[in-house]
Amino acid sequence: MTRRAFLKMTAMAILLAPAYPIGAEELLSADPPEEDTPFGRDQQVYSVADDQLKDYFFKVRNPDTPHPDDIILDKAEQQLLGAVVEKLARLCLNVGNGNFSTLGFDEALIIAGRQPFIGSFTNAELAFFEMIYNRDAHDYGFFGAKQVVAFLHVIAANEIIKIPQTGNYLFKGESLAKYSRIKNNLGDDVILTSGIRGIVKQFHLFLGKAHRHGGNLSLASRSLAPPGYSYHATGDFDIGQKGLGEGNFSELFTTTPVYKRLTEQGFVDYRYWRDNMFGVRYEPWHIKL
Ligand SMILES: [Zn+2]
Repeated sequence: MTRRAFLKMTAMAILLAPAYPIGAEELLSADPPEEDTPFGRDQQVYSVADDQLKDYFFKVRNPDTPHPDDIILDKAEQQLLGAVVEKLARLCLNVGNGNFSTLGFDEALIIAGRQPFIGSFTNAELAFFEMIYNRDAHDYGFFGAKQVVAFLHVIAANEIIKIPQTGNYLFKGESLAKYSRIKNNLGDDVILTSGIRGIVKQFHLFLGKAHRHGGNLSLASRSLAPPGYSYHATGDFDIGQKGLGEGNFSELFTTTPVYKRLTEQGFVDYRYWRDNMFGVRYEPWHIKL
């Protein structure tokens, strides 16, 4: 195999998500390629590709650790980041968690403009939102596909239903049916921790995380899909063990009776399995439609 062919194969393995889980060990233990010259194996090429894979797996296993390759906003952009994160937080307080999770972008602008407590978004802030939305998330190291094509996508009120005692919404149809089956099987122990997330909610989560980590967009994308890339906009949802709180968004969740029963009953079908090829951390709580 030539040097070019091997590097291309490695890049494809990372860029194209396989239909089944591939573990780090499996990839790293692959035989080094044979060099097609009389000089034998090209150890240098192999170690470069090997280091890239080790780097990749380090990132998805340590999502909150900054990495030298990470894309970080400059000082001026970080000021805009801080300003929009604060405005989105005030907007959320104003409309309530449930409404905020399904809010469209246009509606958010109207509400912010009417409420002095929130404050209108400036032209520079709007341009910042567009820049973030239009940026190819592959640049950050996030390899999932774009979900919501339109920036101004509106979630139709008659297509969703509020789930009692959770403050979250689900899409009627397949999504609600799957959640209902889980609820009927597991009872009160299981809770819906996150349902539908519109573009505004995803902006708040993604940018909030980047803001807490010095404007690091790559770091944020390892645990939160960039706006437009989240499957929470199209029907996936998160579930947890009642009483576990934030622990439901950590591997602690895999030690709970709810998780055990979910796997026994075949409800666990990973979107983001351990060492996935999307550039995203392991998320055993995320239910794929
Ligand atoms: Zn999720």
